[in-house]
Amino acid sequence: MNSTTGKRIALISVHGDPAIEIGKEEAGGQNVYVRNVGEALARLGWQVDMFTRKVSLEQDSIVKHSENCRTIRLKAGPLEFVPRDDIFEYLREFVDNFLKFQVENDITYQLVHTNYWLSSWVGMELKEIQKSKQVHTYHSLGAVKYNTIQKEDIPLIASKRLKVEKEVLEKAERIVATSPQEQEHMRSLVSTKGNIDIIPCGTDIQRFGSIAREAARAELGIEKETKVVLYVGRFDSRKGIETLVRAVNESELRDSKNLQLIIGGGSTPGNSDGIERDRIEQIVNELGMSDFTTFAGRLSQDILPTYYAAADVCVVPSHYEPFGLVAIEAMASGTPVVASDVGGLQFTVVNEETGLLAPPQDVDAFASAIDRILSNPEWRDELGKAGRKRVESKFSWDGVAHQLSELYTELLQPQPLASTAKELVESTVELVQSTAKELVE
Ligand code: UDP
Repeated sequence: MNSTTGKRIALISVHGDPAIEIGKEEAGGQNVYVRNVGEALARLGWQVDMFTRKVSLEQDSIVKHSENCRTIRLKAGPLEFVPRDDIFEYLREFVDNFLKFQVENDITYQLVHTNYWLSSWVGMELKEIQKSKQVHTYHSLGAVKYNTIQKEDIPLIASKRLKVEKEVLEKAERIVATSPQEQEHMRSLVSTKGNIDIIPCGTDIQRFGSIAREAARAELGIEKETKVVLYVGRFDSRKGIETLVRAVNESELRDSKNLQLIIGGGSTPGNSDGIERDRIEQIVNELGMSDFTTFAGRLSQDILPTYYAAADVCVVPSHYEPFGLVAIEAMASGTPVVASDVGGLQFTVVNEETGLLAPPQDVDAFASAIDRILSNPEWRDELGKAGRKRVESKFSWDGVAHQLSELYTELLQPQPLASTAKELVESTVELVQSTAKELVE
């Protein structure tokens, strides 16, 4: 029998491989989201297969994360890293290999949850071909992103992306917005049609928050008096690292010898993240900040809790941020956040309660927000505690997976067609008649 039944879900994330190292070019929040949602759904009894694009011959085609959860890498285009703006032309091959995988494994996915617009196109194809139902999470909206960058930086694929993003909003069974702000953007900038639920991103509340400030500082060799300002994330100009560097340069503590700026995130020389890192390092040097600035490189998920716990403040200076996992990771670690007053950050960071919000790219506003927190350790601790509480109540992966599980279950409910219902009634009548006859005899 073809295994179409039961709690089975395909998570599709063409360019965001859930099984690879996080924190380098194009590997960030989406990879973390898919991996954690997948694993948490498996704990709830779902059979979870996460499909992504294979980028080298050495990569395993199947990675097993737990009994019911695996990453499956399909060939689509060359076996090498391809920037996401150049992947669209390989999606047809991705669909073909997805269908082939189903046949070879005797599986049909009745429900697919797609991530980012590239995967949404794959989901819409599966809908056409085999009537799969589709849940979609955008992770980033072209309509918002293209408003925040220079005209000359808008890629050629932009018009295709905008068209696909509108189509999936109108066609998918359900769209998952990760914040009310993202839902509002969909409605005002993409389409008034389509079904949207708000289910946020989550974080590992056991991992983040597992180490106290003193122990974390001892581990990293940071003095008690030092004020630590932390950035964690990819090197990408939309992340606004330049704003943070210039703000720290304006801090009242700039020359106190007690200030340390730590910038965590991986990069590859010559790639776009390597180029952005060089640019940031050059600004740091020009401003004479290299003595108290550390480029920590890619931070593994194992060491990250220590960095967050050691910091006095974590800064998320993005120009645009659909959700922003770093903010909730810091909050879960009891560290206040200074963030741009944009997108999902307006939802996760409660101004004056769990941190402070500042207008994006506003160096003065970031400088004074950072100083307010650094100059008042008691208030810093209060903000940190409130942040931890907020994440515990709203943003745990298990809570998020629970909400997704309910949504999937609702969508997988069989919708009896009129004819099916009629057949059912007829066969029940037959059964009753034959049983009655047997009883009489
Ligand atoms: N990250 C990491 N190591 C690093 C830098 C980032 O593990 O050196 C992780 C970070 O902990 C977070 C994710 O990458 O889980 C970034 O997600 P976010 O939503 O903040 O940004 P995105 O990368 O999606 O733009």
